[in-house]
Amino acid sequence: MTLPTLIIGGGISGITAAVELAEAGREVVLIEKEPYLGGNVSGFNNYFPKLCPPACGLEINYRRIRSNSRISYYTGAEVRDISGSDGDFNVKISLEARLINNRCTSCGKCSEVCPETRPGVVGGYPGEKAAYVPGGLAFPLKYTIDEKVCKKEACGKCLEVCDYDAIQLDAKPAEIEIKVKKIIVATGWRLYDASRIENYRYSEEPDVVTNLEFEHLLAACTRDHKRLTRPSDREVPRNIAFIQCAGSRDHHHLPYCSAVCCSASLKHALTLAEGYPEMKTEIFYIDLRLTGRNEKLLNRAQEKSSITLTKGKVGRIEPGSNGEGLVLEVEDIMAGTRRMEPYDMVVLATGLVPNHLAVDMPVNDYGFYEPGRVAGIIPAATCKRPMDVASSVRDATAAVLKAMQP
Ligand SMILES: Cc1cc2nc3c(=O)[nH]c(=O)nc-3n(C[C@H](O)[C@H](O)[C@H](O)COP(=O)(O)OP(=O)(O)OC[C@H]3O[C@@H](n4cnc5c(N)ncnc54)[C@H](O)[C@@H]3O)c2cc1C
Repeated sequence: MTLPTLIIGGGISGITAAVELAEAGREVVLIEKEPYLGGNVSGFNNYFPKLCPPACGLEINYRRIRSNSRISYYTGAEVRDISGSDGDFNVKISLEARLINNRCTSCGKCSEVCPETRPGVVGGYPGEKAAYVPGGLAFPLKYTIDEKVCKKEACGKCLEVCDYDAIQLDAKPAEIEIKVKKIIVATGWRLYDASRIENYRYSEEPDVVTNLEFEHLLAACTRDHKRLTRPSDREVPRNIAFIQCAGSRDHHHLPYCSAVCCSASLKHALTLAEGYPEMKTEIFYIDLRLTGRNEKLLNRAQEKSSITLTKGKVGRIEPGSNGEGLVLEVEDIMAGTRRMEPYDMVVLATGLVPNHLAVDMPVNDYGFYEPGRVAGIIPAATCKRPMDVASSVRDATAAVLKAMQP
């Protein structure tokens, strides 16, 4: 019997690897530590280069997964141990307790009666119920219960209303062991900890948010048909500053370029110019790094009168007088000036760092996984280096070709 290939990480790159391998006739086991597939992209408002909703890329892949019996997938799953060698690995996988099982029909009654709330996207924004559908684009489309806030049997309101016997508040975690031929690692990225960039006061000022939080805010506004408001007082901001390379290309923080932040901020500014034409945005950059089709974002931004692009670093962020708004010390290299400028909200283009497995794997100087270091274990996409979705998909496909080599 041919052993399957294990893919760790169910973001766009892991999903791509899974469907490509399965459609080439290989058995695949895909595991994801969150309760849903889709990774970071599934929580986006829209994505460049075309600024289309994330459903555009994800839904077709979800369909390919659903229709391919060669793919088995586990959510709430993490690798605990890998032994053996190329061609014959033995992998132990832990499975989180699932408080809602596969009988769930997504009717939503459990969420309606749930009295507990999980924290919201960013401080000041309402959270969701403890029984919720995870992510903007949940796959599988099942409710899940956040164990950290659920009172379980002490509450039990969801148990009373579920007509499908899908709630199992006493569920226990489990462990499975599988044999696989190759392993593709697609564990993706998370943001660098912005609170470490002390001069930008991320921990102190609620209206200083990261680019990912801003993405989630925009996504929540689109989903709930609401206007964007700043976290501190729920007022619509009149102007927003985007600070590029917040911690990136900086030897005190991340020495490398995160490759996607310039395009992401231009995307955000263009989205605002579209939906909030009266709102002013200013992007402070060292230099704008855009590749391929993403260069068009810059051309489009330059045509918008509401978007200003300023070459220069932001030195520090201070609270405004009377605690109102934020004041930025900004340099304008082209004008040769330094000024103090007020803003209602600030978005930090914070860089990407790789997600690691719970098992030891060699990394490069920047902490990213490197190909060719462990025979039979193939890192793919953003756990190797920061890259956008199109490059991640290409890299995942390349990983599939490597996994198919004898
Ligand atoms: C603010 C922002 C906006 C962006 N906007 C765009 C855009 O508009 N267009 C674009 O092309 N790119 C954009 N990007 C880049 C884009 O997010 C990445 O290219 C994309 O997420 C890469 O997908 P991935 O599958 O490699 O990683 P991820 O999306 O991070 O997925 C990795 C998955 O692996 C899972 N995982 C992690 N560790 C484990 C483990 N140990 N076991 C099991 N599972 C694990 C994670 O939970 C996750 O689901 C943006 C990035 C940022 C920061």
